Amino acid sequence: MSGAASVAASGRSLQAVTVLGATGSIGSSTLDVLARNSARYEVFALTANTRVEAMESLCRQHRPRFAVMQDEAAAEQLRARLADLPQTQVMQGVEGLCRVAGDAAADVVVAGIVGAAGLLPTLAAVDAGKRVLLANKEALVMTGDLLTSRAKAAGARLLPVDSEHNALFQCMPQTAEGTSLDGVSRLLLTASGGPFRGRTAAQLADVTPAQAVAHPNWSMGRKISVDSATLMNKGLELIEACFLFAVPASRIDVVVHPQSIIHSLVSYRDGSVLAQLGNPDMRTPIAHALAWPERIDAGVAPLDLFEVAQLNFERPDTVNFPCLRLAREAVDAGGTATAVLNAANEVAVAAFLDGNAGFMTIPATIEHCLGALPVRPADTLDAVLEADAQARECAAAFLA
Ligand code: NAD
Ligand code: MG
Repeated sequence: MSGAASVAASGRSLQAVTVLGATGSIGSSTLDVLARNSARYEVFALTANTRVEAMESLCRQHRPRFAVMQDEAAAEQLRARLADLPQTQVMQGVEGLCRVAGDAAADVVVAGIVGAAGLLPTLAAVDAGKRVLLANKEALVMTGDLLTSRAKAAGARLLPVDSEHNALFQCMPQTAEGTSLDGVSRLLLTASGGPFRGRTAAQLADVTPAQAVAHPNWSMGRKISVDSATLMNKGLELIEACFLFAVPASRIDVVVHPQSIIHSLVSYRDGSVLAQLGNPDMRTPIAHALAWPERIDAGVAPLDLFEVAQLNFERPDTVNFPCLRLAREAVDAGGTATAVLNAANEVAVAAFLDGNAGFMTIPATIEHCLGALPVRPADTLDAVLEADAQARECAAAFLA
């Protein structure tokens, strides 16, 4: 698909980039990398949910062709604020999000919306055959093979931005299509262990949202920060790895590595283990996925191993942190089970962040929904959306 085809001073045509979730943590890291590489990339479209002020300032800075607010009233306000910026057209709603994700003039789409809300725009980008930089792991966890097979059918290239999957991608055998499993025995997914590593379930019962979002190594949005604290983030990532690389969960080990310097490893049949290392900064995987197979500047400080000094490893604690076990059970069950796991988690995390549920209620809600709802084939979008809706109802009833 050919893009807006503006030409840089170098004579090379610019890649037009849509950033879904531009006001978030992934969005701001992406815009930083794009600004450092303005000879290669231009911002085509930016999207956000409700934060009008933040979006206005991003539009003034990056001058996109389109700005989309999911929320209609927010779009109205943004339109008024950007009256003096006629080159930026403001759109709204899920239709607007899908339109800029699938627009013929966009070359690259960064899927940086959080949660199930990212599913339809990500699918629109995939169906339009874009280079899709996948940060929104929930979309893949919900749809699994449906998303990867639609990407294949449309000729879209799915490049993982999640740091662990980006590391695995870099360490796996490279092919023209991406990666293969030739000679690979196991994937080793690293986990920081989150802010509550070493605590017991009893000690976790009354932790607060503020404590849960204070991640020791990464600065991220609130939802993924809570997921990191429960280890559900690693559970979602285990499922993400299964679908991205077509590997069964039984061939993936989770290794707790508190320093977050090794971002994941690939173990080969000859005994070799390849790892990708770097400072914990999302601009590295974003820059890698933007430019692959080339390399560009990311603004990330070089890794100083003398400063790091130690790399430690532990087994994950799935007794006090049941979410990782639940994720394995869901991916083994297959079908709509991973969509149910994801939806129940989203509802329970939102309740925890709002102060309406305890921390350990998160795994309890997910376990309840996985037990209560039937597993159906996840071979159509409707089947996935129905499982998602049922799980949200089931979780809300459990929490009430
Ligand atoms: P965030 O909360 O900082 O940002 C979320 C973005 O999504 C915002 O721009 C917001 O406007 C938008 N959004 C939220 N709800 C929406 C809705 N209903 N409709 C449309 N847009 C909506 O989140 P984040 O930390 O940037 O994470 C984004 C995604 O990337 C998540 O799926 C997360 O798991 C994944 N991810 C994030 C990191 C990280 O370091 N932040 C690392 C790996 C993967
Ligand atoms: Mg990750």
